[in-house]
Amino acid sequence: MKKLLAILLSVIIAFSLSVSIFAQSDSDECDCGYIPVIFVTGFAYTELVANAGTEDEYGAFGVENEAIIEMVKGLIFPLISLLITRDYDTFAHRLSADVMELFYDASCDENGVPKNPTVDIERFNPPTAEHYPNEYSTFRYDWRKDIFDIAAELNDYIEETKRLTGHSKVALRSESMGGAVTMAYLKTYGYDSVETVVMQSSAFDGISTISSLFVGDLTIDPQSLVNYIANFMEGNSTETVLYRALYLSLAKFIINPVVSLLGNFIGNIQDIVYDECIKPLFGYIPGLWAFVTPETYEEAKAFMLDEEVNAELIKKIDKYHYEVLNKRDEIIADAMANGVNFAIFSNYGKGALPLGEYSMSQSDFLIETEHTSLGATCAKYGETLGDGYVQAIDDGHNHVSPDNMIDASTCSFPEITWFVKDMMHTWYTDGYNEFVYKLIYTEGQETIHTYEEYPQFLVNNQETEALEPLTAENSDTQSTDVDYGAVLDLIIDKIKSE
Ligand SMILES: [Zn+2]
Ligand SMILES: [Zn+2]
Repeated sequence: MKKLLAILLSVIIAFSLSVSIFAQSDSDECDCGYIPVIFVTGFAYTELVANAGTEDEYGAFGVENEAIIEMVKGLIFPLISLLITRDYDTFAHRLSADVMELFYDASCDENGVPKNPTVDIERFNPPTAEHYPNEYSTFRYDWRKDIFDIAAELNDYIEETKRLTGHSKVALRSESMGGAVTMAYLKTYGYDSVETVVMQSSAFDGISTISSLFVGDLTIDPQSLVNYIANFMEGNSTETVLYRALYLSLAKFIINPVVSLLGNFIGNIQDIVYDECIKPLFGYIPGLWAFVTPETYEEAKAFMLDEEVNAELIKKIDKYHYEVLNKRDEIIADAMANGVNFAIFSNYGKGALPLGEYSMSQSDFLIETEHTSLGATCAKYGETLGDGYVQAIDDGHNHVSPDNMIDASTCSFPEITWFVKDMMHTWYTDGYNEFVYKLIYTEGQETIHTYEEYPQFLVNNQETEALEPLTAENSDTQSTDVDYGAVLDLIIDKIKSE
């Protein structure tokens, strides 16, 4: 028996040695000068499909319009009967059951395991040998999974990219949830394969407004809803400024009563809908727990999950929270000490999701700026830090934005954190990409002091799509001061063109 084992072992060793020799010999080192760039995508970037590759393939999360229409049709009579009977409980049970059915294919069981085993992501963009300047390959994943499981897939993707391209290192552009995946990757697999990490609107510190959902706070502040809708009226053209001014002056008359009706309605169905729908739907998806902030994590766990029923799931999400999210600063500092170049991009100037107590935060329209920047002190949306504001930590540089809305001195890494005003979450303009690739292809660690044209505070020029240094002059980007002369010209132009 021993002899057999010895033979088996030597065969295995010989085989694995030859595999690694082949691997080295069939991919010569590439000296093109352009490191392969991998784009680590965010939540729901990639479509989930059931029965992938078969005739019965269908979208498992995008939920077909027909299914939604069917559900709404089915709810008409329960809604009418609710109006007559005021029996909110019956309606809440029915609504919960319908939503659970609608999202069955994307949902997970109490252990965080997908209920429908045929559901997977669309498998395209595998690693290739091709790598061109200013382009990236796209790492996709099933975003329902636990962050560590996704990090293991990222590791495979990176190793395969290295092998195929002949480069010993890669650069990562990690957006949103991809930032959390990248942190778990660095923690688990170390720093040898990565030269540069660019965090783009990263969710490596959670999202406060999403956390509100996880602690049962569904309050809607009317002003935050007004702000959120205004996010879509971007720019400083006469037309946009006019619409924005009109909208903001009328919005509160419409939105306030709607929000108060909605609040009343939600209050009446909330308990049942949480127990029968929100907890088993959102609470059981491991990946979503990456969005819960350190401040709310324990409360959220106690509210959404059951220690016994969800023991397996809790083990998974605890690992990410305690070993990665809570250690984010250590991981980044350690990566940099081991030669990884780091850059953190944090966008601001947008209203936050209109949900819960953080809905008036400064945001990129999805993640609060405080979190994507790892700790900047931010004025509430639409406000400033106040006259005579003094930078919280004096480190010898100015870290207060020219519009007096952000103090970066409280960031974990103020010297490598850039802020882009008026840039939506994960929207990338040509100007943005240009700067990111400059950081990736230039050797060494760059900081906010490296380039005169890229200081700590930048603004996205809506017309030219260029990144420009934010100044006192170009920082008023939410103007509602209507230039009536220009409006008159606009109207005359319109009449002429009819
Ligand atoms: Zn190359
Ligand atoms: Zn400084």
